[in-house]
This record gives sequence, C-alpha cells and structure tokens, in this order.
Amino acid sequence: MSERPTSWGRQPVVSPDRVIDLDRDRIQDGLFSGSPVLAFGNGRSYGDVCLNEGGTLIRTQQRNRILGFDADQGLLDVEAGVLLSHIIERCLPLGWALAVTPGTAFVTVGGAIANDVHGKNHHRVGSFGHHVECLELLRSEGGVTRCSPVSAPDLFRATIGGLGLTGLILSARLRLRRVAGGWLRGSSQRFHGLSEFFSLSAAADEHSEYTVAWLDCLAAGPRQGRGVFMQANHAPDTAPLPGRRNFRVPITPPFCPINRLVLKVFNWLYFHRPAAEQSDARWDYPSFFHPLDSILEWNRLYGPAGFYQFQCVVPPAVSEPALRQMLGLIERSGQGSFLAVLKIFGDRPSLGMMSFPRPGATLALDFPNRGGVTERLMRQLEAITREAGGAIYPAKDAWLSPAAFGQFFPNLGAFLPHVDPAFSSSFWRRVRAEAPTR
Ligand SMILES: Cc1cc2nc3c(=O)[nH]c(=O)nc-3n(C[C@H](O)[C@H](O)[C@H](O)COP(=O)(O)OP(=O)(O)OC[C@H]3O[C@@H](n4cnc5c(N)ncnc54)[C@H](O)[C@@H]3O)c2cc1C
Repeated sequence: MSERPTSWGRQPVVSPDRVIDLDRDRIQDGLFSGSPVLAFGNGRSYGDVCLNEGGTLIRTQQRNRILGFDADQGLLDVEAGVLLSHIIERCLPLGWALAVTPGTAFVTVGGAIANDVHGKNHHRVGSFGHHVECLELLRSEGGVTRCSPVSAPDLFRATIGGLGLTGLILSARLRLRRVAGGWLRGSSQRFHGLSEFFSLSAAADEHSEYTVAWLDCLAAGPRQGRGVFMQANHAPDTAPLPGRRNFRVPITPPFCPINRLVLKVFNWLYFHRPAAEQSDARWDYPSFFHPLDSILEWNRLYGPAGFYQFQCVVPPAVSEPALRQMLGLIERSGQGSFLAVLKIFGDRPSLGMMSFPRPGATLALDFPNRGGVTERLMRQLEAITREAGGAIYPAKDAWLSPAAFGQFFPNLGAFLPHVDPAFSSSFWRRVRAEAPTR
C-alpha cells in the first residue's frame, strides 16, 4: 500500500494493512471486519501511539464539523475529527477559548481526548478531559454509546486518555472558557538553575493561569538548569489579532543538521535574547500558545531518520534531584534539542484511568534519531523516571518497556476490561509485549 501515515517524530516507520477515511456522513460497513483497527487523528503524537503496523488505520479528519454552539454557556458540540485550530478560529472572535490547549493547535478533538492532553494552565484547570462534558463512542460490537461522568462513567474515564483503544470517538461536547479577546499579558524572565525555576514557578502559579519554561538542556556545571520562565493571563484587550505568516520547511535535508555545536549556539542566543527578560509582555493567542505552528512541517528539520521525544513527570518530592540527574545525563550525551520544556503540573487528579498528568514537574525534549546512542539515552531516562516514581507520556513515546508501562499506569487493571477487542496499536502491542500483527 502506498500511503503510510506517520507520527510527528517520523519514527518508527510502520506499514498499516489498510488506511480508511471515515465517511463524513455515515459509518461505512466493514470497519471492524479486517485487521485490528485504530483511529488516526492528525498524527501529532510523536511515537507509535497513533500507528498500527499490519493493522487498519481509520483516519477521522473528514468528520470535522462543528455541530452546535451554545454561546451563552460556552458549550460546543463537535465531530471528533475537527482540529483545535478550527475551533479557535471560530470561537475566539466570539469571546470563547479552549479551556486547555497543547503546544500545537493542529490536533483533532479525538486525539486530544485519547491522550488527555495538557497545556500551560494544568496547575489551574487540569487537562483536556476535565472539560469534556460528554462524548459519543462507536464500539465494534455495534451501536454508539454516549459517555459522560454520569452516563457510562467508567467507559468515559477509560476513554479520556484511553490511547484510542476503547473505541472510535465520533463526537464530543466541550466546555469552553470566556475570554475578552485573543491577547495575553505577562512576563518572561531568565533563571539560572533549577532551584530558581521551582521558586519562580511556585510564586507565579498563584497569580498566573499560564506558566511554562524553556530550558537550556546543554548548559553544564553551575549553569545547569538555566532557562527562561514565562507566565501570562488572558488580557482584557479586544483588539483584532494580527495576520499570521506561515513558513513551510520545503524539504527534508539529507542529514540531520542539529548537532551539539548548533544547539550550543542556538541555546546561548535564545537565553540571551532581549525578549527573554520582559516585565510587561503582550502576546497574541497563536504566538503564546502555538509558536511552532507558524513553521509548517518543522519535523523535517531532523532529517530522514526522524527524531524522538521524551516527556516525563516526576513527583514533587524528588523533582529537583531527578531533573538534575536527567539534565546531567543529557548534557554528557551531547544529544538534545532546541525545545526543552519544563512545567509544574498541579494536583487536580486526572479523570482518565490512563491519563499521564499527575502532580510533579514535567520535562519534554526532542532527540534526533542517532540509532543506538539515542536508544541508550532513552533507556537511561526511563530508568531515572522509574526510580523517581514518575511516568512517561505515551503520546511522545517510542521506547517504553512493558515493565515501565505497568509501573507508570497503576490503573491498567481497571482499564483493560474497557479496551475494545477490535482495537490495537503498535504502541499497545509493544507495551503489552504482544506479538506484532504481522
Ligand atoms: C509541536 C507539538 C506540541 C505538542 N504539545 C503538547 C502539549 O503541550 N501537551 C500535550 O499533552 N501534548 C502535546 N503534543 C502532543 C499532541 O497534543 C498529542 O499527541 C495529540 O493526542 C495529537 O492529536 P492528533 O489529533 O494528532 O492524534 P493522533 O496523534 O493521530 O492520535 C493520538 C491518539 O488519539 C487516538 N485518536 C485520535 N482520534 C481518535 C478518535 N476519533 N477516537 C478514538 N481515538 C482517537 C489515536 O488512536 C491515538 O491513540 C504536542 C505535539 C506537537 C507535535
């Protein structure tokens, strides 16, 4: 078969047996009659959670209608293939924003629910699933189940963060939050080590809805853990947003141009740029929440071998030493990325049985795929995360071992009865140590 949907890291490369576009107007026959199925949203997961080697991928993006909007209550009914960018485009001018948005808006509602995605305001409002009023789920045994915290509540909790394994989400009702317009006000400031980051974050979390930090992942010695901390709140400004110019990375370079020297120079410049220190900053919505979305197909920059992302969360009591250990390891390995993001999750318990967010510090970074050395680094980072009692985010993962998966997701036993037997994924077979479909 010629078509091969990929995940954002373009690794691993897998070949599904069939790729089907879900019909816009009806549920076609035979969806579940062949190999194991999996929904494919927009492939913005990095590893193999959205892939299905030897199985059937059901692409959902043709079902992308906004079904209704109650502009008094901020309740939005959408089909699951609608992109968050489309919701923002339609609802922001009406004074409503998504309650939670991840670092890219090119994510479908189905994908956002299945990974129970989080944003820069996790410490205030929890994750995406907290703002889903109800959803419609198509199961292979036939029929559509309407799930909510009161109707089929266990299936609802299994489907939020359920990695696409409990059935096909057809539609959802989302609760939006009121905003005056598309502007944010806040500040950015440099910090010179992890202890300073933790103090800044603790102070900012009280009065800022959005907090996040960029980290210089190659800074060593006394500079280890330095970065730039940003905090913001929605502003009362109602001025129209400026137009946005997009740029597309036109080709995949024949090799990955990102090496230690390039990273060192980039990180130095990024840390020292004047905008890293602003006491009264103003951002428009896309620049603050989705800065990378203006560079279309930026994942090509990692070359033909692709890249991996690692994202963990480590509990508050051991966050600082565990992060120190990870940063030391990454610096010594010479591997790393422009994008290293650090954030403190709040303590609102996730609704989903398999949701990733939990209290602690979460660190996310990209690594170019350099074969064995990258694999070794990922395994070592997994070991530190295990020892710290943390977890790794399936949406970003291509390496998790079955033992680590069982440790990171203690509700696995409660989740398993809700997995639809017709559904599976490359990720699922890997972490369950099951034989490949082909
Ligand atoms: C630049 C960038 C920044 C990011 N920032 C963040 C962030 O800040 N926070 C965060 O949490 N994540 C972040 N992510 C990850 C991304 O938000 C998630 O991986 C998201 O789930 C991708 O959604 P998708 O629509 O592309 O789904 P896919 O990646 O295609 O699929 C993801 C999962 O959802 C399932 N799925 C999709 N549609 C359905 C459906 N209709 N029914 C059932 N299951 C379905 C799939 O089977 C799969 O298991 C980021 C990704 C990128 C590329």
